[in-house]
Amino acid sequence: MEDGKPVWAPHPTDGFQLGMIVDIGADALTIEPLSQRGKTFLAPINQVFPAEDDVNKHVEDNCSLMYLNEATLLNNICVRYSKDLIYTSVANILIAVNPYFDIPKLYSPETIKSYQGRSLGTLPPHVYAIADKAYRDMRVLKMSQSIIVSGESGAGKTENTKFVLRYLTTSYGTCQDIDERIVEANPLLEAFGNAKTVRNNNSSRFGKFVEIHFNEKNAVVGGFVSHYLLEKSRICMQSTEERNYHIFYRLCAGASEDIRNMLHLNSPDNFRVSFLCIVCVRNMESILPSLDTLMVVAMKKIGLDDTEKLNLFRVVSGVLHLGNIDFEEAGSSSGGCILKNQTSQTLEYCAELLGLDQDDLRVSLTTRVMLTTAGGAKGTVIKVPLKVEQANNARDALAKTIYSRLFDHVVKRVNQCFPFDTSSNFIGVLDIAGFEYFEHNSFEQFCINYCNEKLQQFFNERILKEEQELYQKEGLGVNEVHYVDNQDCIDLVEAKLVGILDILDEENRLPQPSDQHFAEAVHSKHKDHFRLTVPRKSKLTIHRNLRDDEGFIIRHFAGFILNPFLYGNKKNNDALHMSLESLVCESKDKFVRDLFENNSNSKDSKQKAGKLSFISVGNKFKSGNTFCQRAQILSQLQCSGMVSVLDLMQGGFPSRAPFHELYNMYKQYMPNKLTRLDPRLFCKALFKALGLNKNDYKFGLTRVFFRPGKFAEFDQIMKSDP
Ligand code: ADP
Ligand code: MG
Repeated sequence: MEDGKPVWAPHPTDGFQLGMIVDIGADALTIEPLSQRGKTFLAPINQVFPAEDDVNKHVEDNCSLMYLNEATLLNNICVRYSKDLIYTSVANILIAVNPYFDIPKLYSPETIKSYQGRSLGTLPPHVYAIADKAYRDMRVLKMSQSIIVSGESGAGKTENTKFVLRYLTTSYGTCQDIDERIVEANPLLEAFGNAKTVRNNNSSRFGKFVEIHFNEKNAVVGGFVSHYLLEKSRICMQSTEERNYHIFYRLCAGASEDIRNMLHLNSPDNFRVSFLCIVCVRNMESILPSLDTLMVVAMKKIGLDDTEKLNLFRVVSGVLHLGNIDFEEAGSSSGGCILKNQTSQTLEYCAELLGLDQDDLRVSLTTRVMLTTAGGAKGTVIKVPLKVEQANNARDALAKTIYSRLFDHVVKRVNQCFPFDTSSNFIGVLDIAGFEYFEHNSFEQFCINYCNEKLQQFFNERILKEEQELYQKEGLGVNEVHYVDNQDCIDLVEAKLVGILDILDEENRLPQPSDQHFAEAVHSKHKDHFRLTVPRKSKLTIHRNLRDDEGFIIRHFAGFILNPFLYGNKKNNDALHMSLESLVCESKDKFVRDLFENNSNSKDSKQKAGKLSFISVGNKFKSGNTFCQRAQILSQLQCSGMVSVLDLMQGGFPSRAPFHELYNMYKQYMPNKLTRLDPRLFCKALFKALGLNKNDYKFGLTRVFFRPGKFAEFDQIMKSDP
């Protein structure tokens, strides 16, 4: 960076603004913004980046820019976005910006066709290019491949996942029926596992890994879906302006009169589980589709008959009625509670729909069975009355357990509709929530964020380490590039005995586990841990009514920003007490009984994960179609680890080409004398003849490596001036 050259300097809302350096101080630069000539401001040196000469120019692969940094990446993405080019690549990584409208022809059958069999980089960046690369790598390397889709809620992960599935099944499928089912099963999964949130009207509240399996001829033979971490707390509680799982509303509002009568259903407003606040009710008509829509079509496609459908609906209704059961103090000396509003039919309906005995259900919800060993006598059973709050918890735990078992069943049932006998390899697509940080964070956010730390580590290792290893293998003698390692955070969670998970287990084995004791144990085992802090009485904790010592804050990896996340570890106890567990396990309803038989969702998939990844960047609060909210996009790029990737690339040699490829590409422009050389010597002679600057490229053992932007320059010289 030098005087008189344009630079990107920090801007409070746009992320960066163009300016000129007018003075260089010890640790700050004086910048004159281009938009406000004559005014100046100070900016820390490490937040000012060199800009490209032409800031309106955009490139498909960000690595062909002259300067690789977060500011030029952001600008490139935004310039492209303003032209409806939502995909940009950074070497093998794809960045997708959510357009929030359908871009004509972007996903048309013709577009699908055009990407088939084409090498990465020969056509504009597209999610199809990644899908096809995964397919070709699987075929050539005879190894399963995986694509990781990451990004924050609303960024477009699920939509892009669906595009990958559709691409692979339409391009490389043979049995249309199976192909369709793999794609068409989505609406069913989404009905039970998606909900409206403030960030996304159709937010997936579970993670999934979808495998498309191929036979030895590399044709699609079937699929398999694994799911992770369904958000259970949503079943009993939603934040304002958020909703419960779609199915609850669809069933209440959209089922036929017959079904509604049979399941004792009426307006969703009458159920606490699906309670809609006023704001949402107003939208209801327009948003709530009847049952007669995509979901029902999906049910048909995957072959659910009327009995199976009714089974699903019955359990959903059972949960709705269960949620309406209320308790009040018994008013006797027992200290226990009784059902409120005993004349209502809520208990009766709930018991009927779930195949339970009404009295058993009432007793199990209001008492707890304990086994005593008092006086040495073994196993005396006593019934302990529950307080109102305990009974509420028991009811919620039951609703959560039943619903999540039902969701397991839906996924299992979906898997039955694209079975396969033999599979040689698969392509897996991972669609899982990014780092989460809500007003109230619970065990669920803890798990999701832990999972993201693991993914981040994988990302670091695969992309960054691999890059360094390649330099070493090729004998480039490039200095090691430093990146943020998050092993310490992972250890904090998963280390044996002292890790948070083990401490939590230990706490739960205590006769009287408590949040406070747990938090204290965590803090005392990790005094002065860089990643861990005690929530102080800041605005934050007062606002949330948290005590000073409640929970803990973990600094998670998020690019170079360290974000404190706070966990009030209150809601992680969903365990059913014994009598409730045995009650549902012995339901008279076979379907309900079966839900509680072991139905594990995991499947051995030992094949190694593949190499590709792409990152979606959402631009959630977008108001117009062409206005790019830069600051928000920037923070997502930082959180995704993209910025560390750029640092590494800028310091290294991001563009590369094997000798033989260069030879084949350019031999037509060369005199015969040169083309008789072997490819490596050919390249050496060519570079010398062109007088290329030695600092701009390096010869490895098998390929040439170029500094950022230099390959594009070289290519231009060759093509314009043969
Ligand atoms: P995520 O799974 O990351 O939370 P989704 O994939 O559900 O986000 O996307 C949220 C919404 O954004 C979708 O319902 C859709 O309306 C819109 N969307 C996402 N990607 C695209 C795209 N490529 N083209 C058009 N609309 C999109
Ligand atoms: Mg999603």
